[in-house]
Amino acid sequence: MNATGYFSHPDCRKHEMGAGHPECPERLDAIDDWLLAIGVKDALDLREAPQAALGDIELAHDRMMVAALRGLSDRLADDIKAGGPAYAQIDPDTALNVHTWNAALRAAGATLAATDAVLSGELENAFCAVRPPGHHACHDKAMGFCFFNNIAIAARYALERHGLKRVAIVDFDVHHGNGTEDILAGDDRVLMVSFFQHPLYPYSGAESHAANMLNLPVPAYTKGMDVRELIEMMWIPRLEEFRPEMIFISAGFDAHREDDLGQMGLVEQDYAWITQRIKDVAKRHSQGRIVSSLEGGYNLNALARSVEAHIRVLADL
Ligand SMILES: [Zn+2]
Repeated sequence: MNATGYFSHPDCRKHEMGAGHPECPERLDAIDDWLLAIGVKDALDLREAPQAALGDIELAHDRMMVAALRGLSDRLADDIKAGGPAYAQIDPDTALNVHTWNAALRAAGATLAATDAVLSGELENAFCAVRPPGHHACHDKAMGFCFFNNIAIAARYALERHGLKRVAIVDFDVHHGNGTEDILAGDDRVLMVSFFQHPLYPYSGAESHAANMLNLPVPAYTKGMDVRELIEMMWIPRLEEFRPEMIFISAGFDAHREDDLGQMGLVEQDYAWITQRIKDVAKRHSQGRIVSSLEGGYNLNALARSVEAHIRVLADL
């Protein structure tokens, strides 16, 4: 039993927010094609992501917010039939098309099914190649390319449905995971550790108010070696002390030096190193249990290579 799961679904490709939008379906194609071409996909346990149940999504989100998104999606479908526009805009960067609702259910469903499979012992760990991403989605608000907070939902699911007592969230996206913080700040069953470029969208997180949030804002042009030192000094001792029973990863790869949505200097080897350090903690405290889900990463080549580096460590390849 050392299998690494790879959860995805064709519906995640159908969500798109207009020509030229960086959070595009081609991100999943780039990852999938690359993993297939280099043979990594053959080594993974490939699984189709189910749709999350609304009751599980509501472990992290306000019921009214979920209903409002569904209503918006239904109205959009009606409007399109009547000749209206193809998108319903939520904020300047975030829009629904007619497939967004199903894609968001699949993205959340991937992390939940991965959690089930890892906790049942079928898989050691799992990567969810899904979109829309989740870590900007707040308790009662979709924003920043995100609709449902896939990782926060899965963390709550592990606590509430599986009875775990302590779970950790690691967020290495270049942007602050403000949605995850919004949902889980003050929930002492969760420890969230992150670094992020600051100042940068969504311009939050530099002053952390909750004891269970370890935020490390770093300036633009910070390189991988400096991030590694911060992780070693700050994240690891907190994670060791917390002894999580399971670790969730908000795996954004937009801190890569080739990614234009951030200005940080990480490379593939840094993602491999970070993943290995997380895996070491998981081995010591969490029976190796890790569920990782895709967040950002917008340079398609750098994204594919970085996901490869991440998965090679997860799967011991
Ligand atoms: Zn990001």
